[in-house]
Amino acid sequence: MEKFWERVRARSVSGEGIGREDALAVLSLRNDAIWRLLDVTETVRRRFKGDGIRLCAIVNAKSGHCSEDCSFCAQSRRSSAAIAKHPLLSGEEIFREAEGAKERGAREFSIVASGLAMRNKEELTCIGDAVERIRTELGLETCVSLGTLSPPDVEYLLSRGLRSVHHNLETSRSFFPKVCTTHDYEEDVAAVRAAKAAGAWVCCGGIFGLGESPEDRVELALTLRDLQVDSIPVNFLNPVPGTPLEGRRELTPMDGLRIIAMLRLTNPTREIIVCGGREANLRDLQALMFAAGATGTMVGNYLTTAGRPATEDLHMLRDLGLTPRS
Ligand code: SF4
Repeated sequence: MEKFWERVRARSVSGEGIGREDALAVLSLRNDAIWRLLDVTETVRRRFKGDGIRLCAIVNAKSGHCSEDCSFCAQSRRSSAAIAKHPLLSGEEIFREAEGAKERGAREFSIVASGLAMRNKEELTCIGDAVERIRTELGLETCVSLGTLSPPDVEYLLSRGLRSVHHNLETSRSFFPKVCTTHDYEEDVAAVRAAKAAGAWVCCGGIFGLGESPEDRVELALTLRDLQVDSIPVNFLNPVPGTPLEGRRELTPMDGLRIIAMLRLTNPTREIIVCGGREANLRDLQALMFAAGATGTMVGNYLTTAGRPATEDLHMLRDLGLTPRS
Protein backbone atom coordinates (compact mmCIF):
# COMPACT_ATOMS: atom_id res chain seq x y z
CA MET A 1 0.00 0.00 0.00
CA GLU A 2 2.90 2.39 0.69
CA LYS A 3 4.04 1.93 -2.90
CA PHE A 4 0.54 2.90 -4.06
CA TRP A 5 0.61 6.17 -2.13
CA GLU A 6 4.15 6.96 -3.30
CA ARG A 7 3.23 6.33 -6.93
CA VAL A 8 -0.03 8.30 -6.76
CA ARG A 9 1.71 11.28 -5.15
CA ALA A 10 4.65 11.24 -7.56
CA ARG A 11 2.59 10.89 -10.73
CA SER A 12 0.12 13.58 -9.76
CA VAL A 13 2.64 16.08 -8.34
CA SER A 14 4.65 15.73 -11.57
CA GLY A 15 1.55 16.78 -13.55
CA GLU A 16 1.43 13.52 -15.47
CA GLY A 17 -1.57 12.08 -13.65
CA ILE A 18 -2.30 8.60 -12.35
CA GLY A 19 -3.23 5.67 -14.58
CA ARG A 20 -6.41 3.63 -14.86
CA GLU A 21 -5.66 1.03 -12.18
CA ASP A 22 -4.64 3.59 -9.57
CA ALA A 23 -7.69 5.70 -10.41
CA LEU A 24 -9.93 2.69 -9.79
CA ALA A 25 -8.10 2.03 -6.51
CA VAL A 26 -8.79 5.64 -5.44
CA LEU A 27 -12.51 5.12 -6.06
CA SER A 28 -12.51 1.99 -3.89
CA LEU A 29 -10.56 3.41 -0.93
CA ARG A 30 -12.21 2.80 2.41
CA ASN A 31 -13.64 5.76 4.29
CA ASP A 32 -10.82 5.60 6.85
CA ALA A 33 -8.27 6.18 4.06
CA ILE A 34 -9.99 9.36 2.86
CA TRP A 35 -7.86 11.59 5.05
CA ARG A 36 -4.66 10.28 3.56
CA LEU A 37 -6.16 10.75 0.11
CA LEU A 38 -7.11 14.35 0.88
CA ASP A 39 -3.55 15.05 2.02
CA VAL A 40 -2.36 14.12 -1.49
CA THR A 41 -5.13 15.91 -3.40
CA GLU A 42 -4.75 19.08 -1.33
CA THR A 43 -1.01 19.08 -2.10
CA VAL A 44 -1.69 18.66 -5.82
CA ARG A 45 -4.36 21.38 -5.89
CA ARG A 46 -2.09 23.88 -4.12
CA ARG A 47 0.88 23.00 -6.32
CA PHE A 48 -0.92 23.75 -9.57
CA LYS A 49 -3.66 26.21 -8.58
CA GLY A 50 -2.75 27.72 -5.20
CA ASP A 51 -5.44 28.89 -2.80
CA GLY A 52 -7.54 30.83 -5.31
CA ILE A 53 -10.98 29.42 -6.04
CA ARG A 54 -12.97 30.13 -9.18
CA LEU A 55 -16.60 31.08 -8.63
CA CYS A 56 -18.93 30.87 -11.58
CA ALA A 57 -22.64 31.34 -12.06
CA ILE A 58 -25.08 30.50 -14.84
CA VAL A 59 -28.31 31.64 -16.36
CA ASN A 60 -30.72 29.22 -17.96
CA ALA A 61 -31.20 31.52 -20.94
CA LYS A 62 -33.41 29.14 -22.92
CA SER A 63 -35.21 26.51 -20.92
CA GLY A 64 -36.99 23.27 -21.75
CA HIS A 65 -38.38 21.81 -25.00
CA CYS A 66 -35.13 19.99 -25.75
CA SER A 67 -35.06 17.51 -28.64
CA GLU A 68 -32.67 15.23 -26.70
CA ASP A 69 -33.53 12.52 -24.18
CA CYS A 70 -30.77 12.74 -21.53
CA SER A 71 -32.10 10.66 -18.65
CA PHE A 72 -30.99 12.99 -15.85
CA CYS A 73 -32.24 16.22 -17.39
CA ALA A 74 -35.50 17.97 -16.46
CA GLN A 75 -35.50 19.72 -19.85
CA SER A 76 -35.36 16.58 -21.95
CA ARG A 77 -38.10 15.14 -24.14
CA ARG A 78 -38.41 12.23 -21.68
CA SER A 79 -39.10 14.55 -18.74
CA SER A 80 -42.47 15.58 -17.37
CA ALA A 81 -40.86 17.68 -14.65
CA ALA A 82 -42.66 20.86 -13.69
CA ILE A 83 -40.01 23.39 -14.66
CA ALA A 84 -40.18 26.89 -16.12
CA LYS A 85 -39.86 26.72 -19.90
CA HIS A 86 -39.09 29.78 -21.99
CA PRO A 87 -37.52 30.84 -25.29
CA LEU A 88 -34.20 32.69 -25.33
CA LEU A 89 -34.14 35.60 -22.87
CA SER A 90 -33.43 39.04 -24.30
CA GLY A 91 -29.91 40.46 -24.18
CA GLU A 92 -31.04 42.86 -21.45
CA GLU A 93 -32.47 40.02 -19.33
CA ILE A 94 -29.24 38.04 -19.68
CA PHE A 95 -27.20 41.11 -18.73
CA ARG A 96 -29.34 41.68 -15.60
CA GLU A 97 -28.78 38.06 -14.55
CA ALA A 98 -25.03 38.59 -14.96
CA GLU A 99 -25.20 41.74 -12.84
CA GLY A 100 -26.92 39.77 -10.06
CA ALA A 101 -24.32 37.02 -10.33
CA LYS A 102 -21.50 39.54 -9.97
CA GLU A 103 -23.17 41.00 -6.87
CA ARG A 104 -23.30 37.50 -5.40
CA GLY A 105 -19.53 37.06 -5.92
CA ALA A 106 -19.23 35.23 -9.25
CA ARG A 107 -16.19 36.03 -11.40
CA GLU A 108 -17.35 34.06 -14.44
CA PHE A 109 -20.81 33.95 -15.98
CA SER A 110 -22.15 31.29 -18.30
CA ILE A 111 -25.08 31.61 -20.68
CA VAL A 112 -26.75 28.21 -21.04
CA ALA A 113 -29.41 27.18 -23.55
CA SER A 114 -31.20 23.86 -23.89
CA GLY A 115 -31.00 21.92 -27.12
CA LEU A 116 -28.56 19.81 -29.11
CA ALA A 117 -27.04 22.84 -30.83
CA MET A 118 -27.77 26.51 -31.25
CA ARG A 119 -27.80 27.20 -34.98
CA ASN A 120 -30.15 30.20 -35.14
CA LYS A 121 -28.11 33.24 -36.22
CA GLU A 122 -30.44 35.73 -34.54
CA GLU A 123 -30.08 33.89 -31.22
CA LEU A 124 -26.31 33.69 -31.63
CA THR A 125 -26.10 37.41 -32.31
CA CYS A 126 -28.18 38.12 -29.21
CA ILE A 127 -25.78 36.00 -27.16
CA GLY A 128 -22.74 37.61 -28.81
CA ASP A 129 -24.09 41.05 -27.89
CA ALA A 130 -24.70 39.95 -24.29
CA VAL A 131 -21.21 38.42 -24.03
CA GLU A 132 -19.60 41.66 -25.19
CA ARG A 133 -21.64 43.77 -22.77
CA ILE A 134 -21.03 41.48 -19.79
CA ARG A 135 -17.30 41.47 -20.54
CA THR A 136 -16.91 45.19 -21.04
CA GLU A 137 -19.44 46.62 -18.55
CA LEU A 138 -19.17 44.08 -15.73
CA GLY A 139 -15.64 42.76 -16.25
CA LEU A 140 -16.82 39.16 -15.85
CA GLU A 141 -15.25 36.33 -17.79
CA THR A 142 -17.88 34.79 -20.04
CA CYS A 143 -18.79 31.24 -20.97
CA VAL A 144 -21.49 29.73 -23.15
CA SER A 145 -23.12 26.32 -23.12
CA LEU A 146 -25.07 26.11 -26.36
CA GLY A 147 -24.71 22.49 -27.42
CA THR A 148 -22.56 21.26 -30.27
CA LEU A 149 -21.55 24.62 -31.71
CA SER A 150 -19.97 24.74 -35.17
CA PRO A 151 -16.37 26.04 -35.43
CA PRO A 152 -17.47 29.30 -37.19
CA ASP A 153 -20.02 29.97 -34.44
CA VAL A 154 -17.36 29.45 -31.75
CA GLU A 155 -15.07 31.82 -33.66
CA TYR A 156 -17.85 34.39 -33.88
CA LEU A 157 -18.47 34.28 -30.11
CA LEU A 158 -14.74 34.46 -29.37
CA SER A 159 -14.60 37.56 -31.57
CA ARG A 160 -17.23 39.13 -29.27
CA GLY A 161 -15.05 38.59 -26.19
CA LEU A 162 -16.07 35.09 -25.12
CA ARG A 163 -13.53 33.16 -23.06
CA SER A 164 -14.96 29.68 -22.48
CA VAL A 165 -17.07 27.13 -24.23
CA HIS A 166 -18.78 24.58 -22.02
CA HIS A 167 -19.93 21.24 -23.33
CA ASN A 168 -20.18 18.19 -21.12
CA LEU A 169 -19.55 14.62 -22.24
CA GLU A 170 -21.72 13.67 -19.22
CA THR A 171 -20.36 10.15 -18.73
CA SER A 172 -18.12 7.53 -20.30
CA ARG A 173 -18.34 6.55 -23.95
CA SER A 174 -19.35 3.04 -22.80
CA PHE A 175 -22.22 4.18 -20.57
CA PHE A 176 -23.49 7.06 -22.72
CA PRO A 177 -26.05 4.98 -24.70
CA LYS A 178 -27.83 4.26 -21.39
CA VAL A 179 -28.03 8.01 -20.70
CA CYS A 180 -28.90 9.45 -24.11
CA THR A 181 -30.13 7.78 -27.29
CA THR A 182 -30.83 10.81 -29.48
CA HIS A 183 -27.27 11.67 -30.39
CA ASP A 184 -23.91 10.01 -30.47
CA TYR A 185 -21.04 10.48 -28.00
CA GLU A 186 -18.73 11.25 -30.89
CA GLU A 187 -20.77 14.37 -31.74
CA ASP A 188 -20.01 15.70 -28.28
CA VAL A 189 -16.33 14.78 -28.55
CA ALA A 190 -16.15 16.51 -31.94
CA ALA A 191 -17.72 19.66 -30.48
CA VAL A 192 -15.14 19.70 -27.69
CA ARG A 193 -12.29 19.25 -30.15
CA ALA A 194 -13.69 22.00 -32.38
CA ALA A 195 -13.95 24.47 -29.49
CA LYS A 196 -10.37 23.72 -28.50
CA ALA A 197 -9.17 24.08 -32.08
CA ALA A 198 -10.90 27.48 -32.33
CA GLY A 199 -8.91 28.67 -29.31
CA ALA A 200 -11.62 28.66 -26.63
CA TRP A 201 -10.96 27.76 -23.01
CA VAL A 202 -12.87 24.47 -22.86
CA CYS A 203 -14.96 23.48 -19.87
CA CYS A 204 -16.04 19.86 -20.20
CA GLY A 205 -17.00 17.30 -17.61
CA GLY A 206 -19.94 15.24 -16.58
CA ILE A 207 -22.51 14.11 -14.09
CA PHE A 208 -22.08 11.29 -11.59
CA GLY A 209 -24.60 9.05 -9.85
CA LEU A 210 -26.53 7.99 -12.97
CA GLY A 211 -25.86 4.28 -12.39
CA GLU A 212 -22.41 4.32 -14.00
CA SER A 213 -19.72 1.99 -12.70
CA PRO A 214 -16.34 3.02 -11.22
CA GLU A 215 -14.82 1.93 -14.54
CA ASP A 216 -17.11 4.41 -16.35
CA ARG A 217 -16.02 7.22 -14.02
CA VAL A 218 -12.37 6.50 -14.70
CA GLU A 219 -13.01 6.15 -18.43
CA LEU A 220 -14.56 9.63 -18.48
CA ALA A 221 -11.62 11.08 -16.50
CA LEU A 222 -9.11 9.62 -18.94
CA THR A 223 -11.09 10.77 -21.97
CA LEU A 224 -11.07 14.31 -20.56
CA ARG A 225 -7.32 14.02 -20.07
CA ASP A 226 -6.85 12.86 -23.67
CA LEU A 227 -8.93 15.80 -24.91
CA GLN A 228 -6.83 18.20 -22.80
CA VAL A 229 -9.89 20.08 -21.60
CA ASP A 230 -9.02 23.14 -19.51
CA SER A 231 -11.67 22.83 -16.87
CA ILE A 232 -13.74 19.90 -15.61
CA PRO A 233 -17.18 20.66 -14.21
CA VAL A 234 -18.37 17.95 -11.82
CA ASN A 235 -22.09 17.46 -11.33
CA PHE A 236 -23.80 14.99 -9.04
CA LEU A 237 -27.29 13.74 -9.79
CA ASN A 238 -29.95 15.57 -7.82
CA PRO A 239 -32.92 13.67 -9.22
CA VAL A 240 -35.83 15.79 -10.36
CA PRO A 241 -39.35 14.29 -10.07
CA GLY A 242 -40.69 13.57 -13.55
CA THR A 243 -37.33 12.49 -14.98
CA PRO A 244 -36.44 8.82 -15.65
CA LEU A 245 -33.91 8.94 -12.81
CA GLU A 246 -36.27 10.36 -10.20
CA GLY A 247 -35.73 8.64 -6.87
CA ARG A 248 -32.20 7.49 -7.68
CA ARG A 249 -29.78 8.44 -4.92
CA GLU A 250 -26.71 6.28 -4.93
CA LEU A 251 -23.79 8.50 -3.96
CA THR A 252 -22.68 9.09 -0.39
CA PRO A 253 -20.82 12.31 0.47
CA MET A 254 -17.63 10.21 0.73
CA ASP A 255 -18.26 8.85 -2.80
CA GLY A 256 -18.48 12.44 -3.99
CA LEU A 257 -15.09 13.23 -2.44
CA ARG A 258 -13.55 10.10 -3.98
CA ILE A 259 -14.83 11.13 -7.43
CA ILE A 260 -13.43 14.68 -7.11
CA ALA A 261 -10.12 13.25 -5.85
CA MET A 262 -9.89 10.76 -8.72
CA LEU A 263 -10.45 13.59 -11.23
CA ARG A 264 -7.80 15.74 -9.49
CA LEU A 265 -5.23 12.92 -9.59
CA THR A 266 -5.92 11.90 -13.19
CA ASN A 267 -6.00 15.54 -14.38
CA PRO A 268 -3.65 17.25 -11.91
CA THR A 269 -3.12 20.52 -13.78
CA ARG A 270 -6.74 21.20 -14.77
CA GLU A 271 -9.45 23.22 -13.08
CA ILE A 272 -12.08 21.10 -11.35
CA ILE A 273 -15.31 22.99 -10.72
CA VAL A 274 -17.97 21.38 -8.53
CA CYS A 275 -21.40 22.36 -9.85
CA GLY A 276 -24.93 20.97 -9.72
CA GLY A 277 -26.01 18.60 -6.99
CA ARG A 278 -23.22 19.49 -4.58
CA GLU A 279 -25.48 20.47 -1.67
CA ALA A 280 -27.66 17.35 -2.03
CA ASN A 281 -24.75 14.93 -2.46
CA LEU A 282 -21.83 16.31 -0.42
CA ARG A 283 -24.11 17.68 2.28
CA ASP A 284 -22.06 18.63 5.38
CA LEU A 285 -18.84 17.58 3.66
CA GLN A 286 -19.04 20.38 1.06
CA ALA A 287 -16.08 22.26 2.54
CA LEU A 288 -13.90 19.18 1.96
CA MET A 289 -14.37 19.39 -1.82
CA PHE A 290 -11.40 21.78 -2.03
CA ALA A 291 -9.13 19.43 -0.10
CA ALA A 292 -10.33 16.70 -2.48
CA GLY A 293 -9.02 18.82 -5.35
CA ALA A 294 -11.77 21.17 -6.48
CA THR A 295 -10.46 24.53 -7.67
CA GLY A 296 -13.82 26.16 -8.13
CA THR A 297 -17.52 25.91 -7.62
CA MET A 298 -20.76 27.28 -8.96
CA VAL A 299 -22.62 29.80 -6.85
CA GLY A 300 -26.34 30.52 -6.93
CA ASN A 301 -28.93 28.41 -8.68
CA TYR A 302 -28.33 25.61 -11.15
CA LEU A 303 -30.22 25.06 -14.40
CA THR A 304 -33.42 23.61 -13.00
CA THR A 305 -32.66 23.18 -9.28
CA ALA A 306 -31.93 25.70 -6.55
CA GLY A 307 -28.50 26.19 -5.01
CA ARG A 308 -27.86 27.54 -1.52
CA PRO A 309 -27.35 31.29 -0.92
CA ALA A 310 -24.00 32.46 -2.32
CA THR A 311 -23.20 34.18 0.99
CA GLU A 312 -22.85 30.72 2.56
CA ASP A 313 -20.26 29.76 -0.06
CA LEU A 314 -18.31 32.98 0.43
CA HIS A 315 -18.30 32.34 4.21
CA MET A 316 -17.11 28.79 3.58
CA LEU A 317 -14.16 30.06 1.51
CA ARG A 318 -13.26 32.64 4.15
CA ASP A 319 -13.38 30.04 6.91
CA LEU A 320 -11.06 27.81 4.89
CA GLY A 321 -8.56 30.62 4.18
CA LEU A 322 -9.31 30.43 0.44
CA THR A 323 -9.96 33.40 -1.84
CA PRO A 324 -12.02 33.87 -5.00
CA ARG A 325 -10.05 34.33 -8.22
CA SER A 326 -10.75 34.76 -11.92
S1 SF4 B 1 -28.68 17.78 -20.99
FE1 SF4 B 1 -28.79 19.34 -22.63
S2 SF4 B 1 -29.03 18.11 -24.53
FE2 SF4 B 1 -29.52 16.74 -22.80
S3 SF4 B 1 -31.77 16.90 -22.58
FE3 SF4 B 1 -30.85 18.41 -21.16
S4 SF4 B 1 -30.81 20.34 -22.32
FE4 SF4 B 1 -31.10 18.67 -23.81
